[in-house]
Amino acid sequence: MNMHEIIVNLHMHTRYSDGGGSHHDIADAALKCGIDAVIVTDHNVFVKGFEGYIQDAKQKTLMLVGEEIHDQARKPQKNHLLVFGAEKELATFADDPQLLINTVRDSNGLSFIAHPHDPAAPAFHETDISWSDWSAIHYTGIELWNEFSELKTLIPTKLHGLLYAFFPELIAHHPIPATLHKWDELLEDRRVVAIGGSDAHAKHMNLGPFQRVVFPYEFHFRAVNTHVLLPKPLTGDANTDKKMIYDSLSTGHCFIGYDLPASTRGFHFTAQGRETEAVMGDEIPARNGVTLQTRTPFSADIRLIRNGKAIRVWKSQTNAAYITTEPGVYRVEVYRRYLGRRRGWIFSNPIYVR
Ligand SMILES: [Zn+2]
Ligand SMILES: [Zn+2]
Repeated sequence: MNMHEIIVNLHMHTRYSDGGGSHHDIADAALKCGIDAVIVTDHNVFVKGFEGYIQDAKQKTLMLVGEEIHDQARKPQKNHLLVFGAEKELATFADDPQLLINTVRDSNGLSFIAHPHDPAAPAFHETDISWSDWSAIHYTGIELWNEFSELKTLIPTKLHGLLYAFFPELIAHHPIPATLHKWDELLEDRRVVAIGGSDAHAKHMNLGPFQRVVFPYEFHFRAVNTHVLLPKPLTGDANTDKKMIYDSLSTGHCFIGYDLPASTRGFHFTAQGRETEAVMGDEIPARNGVTLQTRTPFSADIRLIRNGKAIRVWKSQTNAAYITTEPGVYRVEVYRRYLGRRRGWIFSNPIYVR
């Protein structure tokens, strides 16, 4: 199957909500980092007029605009939803998450539960803004790895915050374990697409005597990205490409890559049956057997997971194959060492063997 991989960075804020930069700053950073497309999601405002290709002398990047919606009157604040492709302001539906999700669907949009587990960080007066309405159905997926939620688990004191403000490359280890667990639980009876988000704010902060932008867009664009598999290369026409990207995201033709330790470009997780093939996000029949193949761009520890349990681990490999006739939800996690710690490197979307 000939799929074309592009790198998308999604979930970021500008001065239209609580970010410190502009759409222009985001485009500049994306061009510098070789990001193919960005999806800007300001809080409770659908900002018009910034979508399209932006280019410099060497390359171009596609800027798309969605929205992050939550009920600002709710106490405590919970239930943030990322909305892409609805093409209209839907923040007025924020007080009823299910109605909001349904309205996004009716508008041909995609919805992703943002930072499903997002603990409090009292040292920084940050409250718990996890998702709480787990009875909701019919959303496209979840933001499995949100770099900002993960940071909140690492900063019991201001001093920790200061450390990570200056050495953000120490932050990312893996998605929050409770979120991975929740995803496996949801996958028992439905399809749920996983994406990775930056939650970039690029805020200017005073940390005692230190001034710092925490964390620049550029840092995020080199860290946790969503790699999207397209049926054909980007055409250069913004509307055509936007539709192609959103179609692939809605079917789960994508994986999450933490590109800072090493580029994850080129990762493959595919299934071959006797007559059919499948990529991440697809279904394939179990009868007659299926070969699941994983390929990573550099050697790493590959874990194959079926229905939430690791069934096989390959140490320091770039290739892994597994033959099965067992139906189940199969996905892959890849780990690699970076700066002295074992880090989550790649999280695939599942292949549904039925
Ligand atoms: Zn949020
Ligand atoms: Zn956000």
